[in-house]
Amino acid sequence: MAQIINGKQVSQNLREKQKSETEALFQKYGKRPGLAVIIVGEDPASKVYVANKEKACIEVGFHSELYRLPEETTMHELLELIEKLNNDDKIHGILCQLPLPKHLDEEKVILAINPSKDVDAFHPVNTGKIMIGNHSFLPCTPAGVMKLIESTGTEISGKECVVIGRSNIVGKPQAMLLLQANGTVTICHSRTRNLKEVTKRADILVVAIGKADFITGDMIKEGAVVIDVGMNRNKEGKLTGDVDFASCEKKASFITPVPGGVGPMTITMLLENTLTAFKETL
Ligand code: NAP
Repeated sequence: MAQIINGKQVSQNLREKQKSETEALFQKYGKRPGLAVIIVGEDPASKVYVANKEKACIEVGFHSELYRLPEETTMHELLELIEKLNNDDKIHGILCQLPLPKHLDEEKVILAINPSKDVDAFHPVNTGKIMIGNHSFLPCTPAGVMKLIESTGTEISGKECVVIGRSNIVGKPQAMLLLQANGTVTICHSRTRNLKEVTKRADILVVAIGKADFITGDMIKEGAVVIDVGMNRNKEGKLTGDVDFASCEKKASFITPVPGGVGPMTITMLLENTLTAFKETL
């Protein structure tokens, strides 16, 4: 039976460290890390995410600014706000919650954020830095996954690591981080043939597909570390991962639950990036 990786606990421990470091820096410099979050429109999931981000900022003692813009905001207005925040000394991190309403160009928005304040690590300068292993910020979800693996005491170096999914925000950067930790990394996607043959090789399996209960116990190796990034709603509206927990739990050595695994880590890593951005200005 696998040990369950408690993402809430790992996240809580990190937030306590962030809080005490923030307090110590405030005592020394009289300044706090500042995060500005922009939300455009009324997407219900996005509203919950930004409210959680604001709450987390306050919890660790950051300065937090939330900009709620109406659905009909123009590109010009949004870029003007970003430019203002780029030049605001109180703000060290800027995050524009995606997805944006269809009339707004997400790529232009990402490019408009100063890379030194791009705490989501979506700007090509930051994604490029991740590629060459010389990063300022780590992409939040993959970085959270690395912390969870670290919490199990599992050595990544030399291990077979399989990442399922190749999105720009999860799969690709996840593979790079595992590679930098000296894993032997395979990336799978919807065109991968004989997926089960590949997943069964994995000492460490990270699943980011977006399909409920897709990975079943017969697809994993005995003793594998299984990290489930997926967040799906099943027929009953319950939050569920990409991994069939019941069957995989019997074979894995460590496994993340959904909820309570990767989810709580993402915002914590956003706070970590904001703290890093702040420290760069001191
Ligand atoms: P995405 O952009 O939709 O990418 C999904 C990836 O899965 C694609 O690369 C796709 O392959 C691959 N895929 C789809 N069907 C497959 C199959 N049958 N076999 C193998 N690979 C398959 O999704 P994402 O943004 O990376 O998110 C993935 C999941 O993680 C979602 O459930 C999302 O909600 C969740 N998520 C959670 C957090 C968190 O904080 N916990 C953060 C971000 C995302 P192709 O490239 O070939 O299409």
